Amino acid sequence: AGVLYVVPTPIGNLEDITYRALNILQSVSLIAAEDTRNTKKLLNHFELSTPLISYHEHNKIAREEQLLERIKRGETIAIVSDAGMPTISDPGYEIVQAVIEQDQKVVVLPGANAALCGLIGSGLPTDEFYFYGFLPRKKKDKASELDRLKRLKATLLFYESPYRIKDTLKVLHEQLGNRNIAIARELTKRFEEFVRGRAEELIEWAENQEMRGEFVLVVEGASLVVEEEAEDVWWEDLSVVAHVN
Ligand code: SAM
Repeated sequence: AGVLYVVPTPIGNLEDITYRALNILQSVSLIAAEDTRNTKKLLNHFELSTPLISYHEHNKIAREEQLLERIKRGETIAIVSDAGMPTISDPGYEIVQAVIEQDQKVVVLPGANAALCGLIGSGLPTDEFYFYGFLPRKKKDKASELDRLKRLKATLLFYESPYRIKDTLKVLHEQLGNRNIAIARELTKRFEEFVRGRAEELIEWAENQEMRGEFVLVVEGASLVVEEEAEDVWWEDLSVVAHVN
């Protein structure tokens, strides 16, 4: 019978591909990839030569029907994105939904994901967390989205680009107060680093930095600290911990 496999790929360190992911990528008849050139490089690295087809924001509706037809005919197809878990701040959830609606089988492989690595490495509570993904770019929209989240006691997770991270820290401070925040940078890569501190400290820290690389922002939930006067959690001062892989 046909299957759609959702296959995670590394978020930096190629050793984070799983045995199972490699087996599936080798055995399927087709890999639907966010960017076929990127995925081609990954396949070459692991000496795989499975056919690729593009599946991204701009062709996903047209592709959906094609892929669905092939799955219904009994083919196995894998979907991958450029990095990490497909469908998480990446294309793919619509095809998963379509496959389910057509009573076909979806199999999700576990694997690398930047948000979860950032959350766990932050040291902030993991019992309840809220993954937001990318905030809107415009300051006004960013502020109104944060306003919506400010009463949540869950730890908040955001993805952010290096071009907007300084600005986003400021808006986080304005909307949520001087909370504890961890910046997880370049996870699994050579210059992996966690920077942990209060919003104000991180804004100051960021002033003197060239913000390069990929970032996850992990923000303490509302239950621990909202007021300026509240006590620090266990990290008393700004701490920058780099771990060179
Ligand atoms: N699907 C991916 C996942 O499962 O994590 C996320 C894809 S999203 C388009 C890309 C964003 O994820 C980046 O802008 C960054 O915020 C975050 N990200 C991806 N890789 C990362 C890494 N190695 N270190 C820190 N953040 C990363």
